[in-house]
Amino acid sequence: MTESVDCVVIGAGVVGLAVARALALAGREVLVLEACPAIGTQTSSRNSEVIHAGMYYPTGSLKAQLCVRGNAMLYEYCAQRGIGHQRCGKFIVATTPGQLAQLETIRARALANGVTDLVLLDRAQALAAEPALQCVGALHSPSTGIIDSHGLMLSLLADLEHAGGIIALNSALDLAEYAQGAIELIAKDETRLSAKVVVNAAGLQAPTLAARFVGLDPQHVPHAYFAKGNYFTLAGRSPFSHLIYPVPEAAGLGVHLTLDLGGQARFGPDVQWVAAPHDTQVEAARGDVFYAEVRKYWPGLPDGALQPAYAGIRPKISGPNEEARDFCIQGPRDHGVPGLVNLFGIESPGLTSCMAIAEVVTELLGHAPTISDTP
Ligand SMILES: Cc1cc2nc3c(=O)[nH]c(=O)nc-3n(C[C@H](O)[C@H](O)[C@H](O)COP(=O)(O)OP(=O)(O)OC[C@H]3O[C@@H](n4cnc5c(N)ncnc54)[C@H](O)[C@@H]3O)c2cc1C
Repeated sequence: MTESVDCVVIGAGVVGLAVARALALAGREVLVLEACPAIGTQTSSRNSEVIHAGMYYPTGSLKAQLCVRGNAMLYEYCAQRGIGHQRCGKFIVATTPGQLAQLETIRARALANGVTDLVLLDRAQALAAEPALQCVGALHSPSTGIIDSHGLMLSLLADLEHAGGIIALNSALDLAEYAQGAIELIAKDETRLSAKVVVNAAGLQAPTLAARFVGLDPQHVPHAYFAKGNYFTLAGRSPFSHLIYPVPEAAGLGVHLTLDLGGQARFGPDVQWVAAPHDTQVEAARGDVFYAEVRKYWPGLPDGALQPAYAGIRPKISGPNEEARDFCIQGPRDHGVPGLVNLFGIESPGLTSCMAIAEVVTELLGHAPTISDTP
């Protein structure tokens, strides 16, 4: 006999866990299916761990709205739960006079997005705060910070379990089919489950998995593209106490400097389009380009100071040379399958936005916002 569950969330990355937690706090019975033997081993543990402020994204986009809301929700949640984080702030630096106009553009967009705390600094003000910097001006974002993403995921999982939710590790979903008012799920080991609600939060695999939902019109499944981001760590002490970003590039935010909570600096991610989402090896030779990029804003970077670290892969739904697409949160009204929510293209700022995405998904499924819910 097929077991029945109220809600199944596919994927225990930070987004799947946040959604599962929110559904459980809204009183639903929740099971999370995770393909790997542990939570958060994919994109959620291969990123910059930055709590973004929300200034870059097109005004009115989901990325802008959910980043701004998610930033506030995350700081509140971290404070409540004692999750490691630091509101260290960030500088976006113009290294040529021509880039000063881009800082103005970013500030104007930030204001339109509801980010009201950015401060333009001239060269002297920027250097007073960060003496190792080379720049002609900078934009200071005080509400950008860093977070212990694994601590966050453990806390989301604890809340989920406290509210009665269950997680099944080593449980990869293979196929799904909508039939007779429920969604029938078939795992790779052929276990069958029936669910009223299914949230596809499979990250890099979300489009591939959605293509295996019998009954979901393929026109609703976007093509998946993968843009790898490589990181290099800095041997020795960081000369900076803020995160340092160049003005953004087309497919990413440029080779920036982020700090972890221990003060270790790392540079990245770059943008390397790859055919499949499996290869997370960092080629040491890519470091050559990093030296040149980083020295634009930190000329003091010593030779040989960068060590290959790790890479993450952006789950993109727009390809190289295409305009970046927004987060795609598809509910029954979009695709016509009752109870199914697909999350596509949840790239950066997905970590920052996770709790706000969870709020949208629970609302799509008929529940009130959950920001103040605690178990
Ligand atoms: C290089 C890089 C840097 C980034 N930096 C930042 C940042 O600084 N700040 C920020 O806000 N965001 C950042 N992001 C974005 C952020 O990391 C992601 O948006 C977020 O981690 C996505 O979480 P997720 O849960 O959707 O996906 P994932 O973490 O990938 O989780 C998906 C889960 O689904 C599971 N799964 C897949 N297929 C199946 C299946 N068939 N059955 C069961 N389970 C399955 C996987 O094993 C995985 O655990 C960055 C991303 C990258 C790539």
